[in-house]
Amino acid sequence: SNIVAIVGRPNVGKSTLFNRLLERREAIVDATSGVTRDRHYGKSDWNGVEFTVIDTGGYEVNTEDVFQEEISKQVQLAIDEATSIIFMLNVDEGLTDTDQEIFEMLRRSNKPIYITINKVDSAKEELAATEFYQLGIDRYFTMSSASGSGTGELLDAIVKEFPTTDYKDPFEGLPKITIAGRPNVGKSTLTNALLDVERNIVTDIAGTTRDSIQTLYNKFGYEFVLVDTAGMRRKAKVKEDLEFYSVMRSVRSIEYSDVVIIMVDATLGWESQDMNIFGLAQKNRKGIVIVVNKWDLVEDKSTNTTRDFENQIKERIGQFTDIPILFVSALTKQRILKAVEMAMEVYENRAKKIKTSKLNEVMLPVFEHTPPPATKGKFVKIKYCVQLPTPSPQFVFFCNLPQYVKEPYKRFAENQLRKHFGFTGVPIEVYFRQK
Ligand code: GDP
Repeated sequence: SNIVAIVGRPNVGKSTLFNRLLERREAIVDATSGVTRDRHYGKSDWNGVEFTVIDTGGYEVNTEDVFQEEISKQVQLAIDEATSIIFMLNVDEGLTDTDQEIFEMLRRSNKPIYITINKVDSAKEELAATEFYQLGIDRYFTMSSASGSGTGELLDAIVKEFPTTDYKDPFEGLPKITIAGRPNVGKSTLTNALLDVERNIVTDIAGTTRDSIQTLYNKFGYEFVLVDTAGMRRKAKVKEDLEFYSVMRSVRSIEYSDVVIIMVDATLGWESQDMNIFGLAQKNRKGIVIVVNKWDLVEDKSTNTTRDFENQIKERIGQFTDIPILFVSALTKQRILKAVEMAMEVYENRAKKIKTSKLNEVMLPVFEHTPPPATKGKFVKIKYCVQLPTPSPQFVFFCNLPQYVKEPYKRFAENQLRKHFGFTGVPIEVYFRQK
């Protein structure tokens, strides 16, 4: 998909434009690190074409001396991450040295750059804006971020020139697995370990989606795509990667995947960042496998230890606990193929479709035997059930009085489905509807 970054000196109006672009949509990220709170990343669309917007301004340091270095870091990250770049300038202050330096960096990037001159509210300012031709450009856009004028022309141009509007997933139909986890948990080590196991059978396709590398595996008896975020391999290149970008990448990888392997550090336990990743995967109805890594560092490996660890995780993750938890070492490669196996199993569970006849045959007697509790002397009768044709399992139970079916009974229905049909690792939705 396309990513539009807004770059420029502090106070030129980046955030105002960003907020305008997001107005009609909610920020999609509710993951970690204040990304939502500050809303520096979100989805927008123009004439039905969706794109992601990044406001690079959120990380500005407003003291003059650190400023130069900080800006060039922001600009470099934007160049790495974005497919199109809006370079914002300000007619009041004219063309500054900093602007020229930013422009030098952008010019070298080969990305489409949209020079946008802000705070142009009058004919006098339109004329003043011609000063920016000094940059040696043949086109610029003017806008008034206060009134919003000019935004449409800018977006028309950007969207029309999107490099990946016709993007087609080259791995359509193959299982997609992503390894998510906080920094240093061992994601790269696992990825590389899996690569090492069968190096020659692996196909790397870089840049198939903008910010991740897909690796196609067709060994271990399986064919699947490991979606690994570019951040993992690019580590050496951008050392001080902002957490913001790594969160953004993991959000996008999770959205693109079928199964998320959530990697936890055995020496640290389950922490809030792990919970955020879990929440994101669950909300997107992705399959989940939890992998506790660095198990080689744990001295007491008795069943008690693993059980305690499991219980600790299950207590924190709430209702949905039917999830495989594995204890591995990416470093010594212990049980790493088991992790792949589990992920594939969860993939199958997620794709599972239960025949309507079978579903009714199994579930109706269960409901008959344990009906929802009567409310105000009325009895709920469940008559018929179907699984919806959705990517992840969702079930509809038709009954006479759906309003009387409360949360605990929905949970009961879900657990019965899990018990009889096996949906380990997969979030399930159940709905009660009037026939
Ligand atoms: P990433 O940021 O999640 O990609 O983490 P890395 O794969 O870069 O690993 C961070 C550090 O943890 C490195 O020093 C690894 O060698 C180390 N590490 C990764 N997996 C294991 C493991 O299973 N056992 C031990 N002892 N160290 C590990």
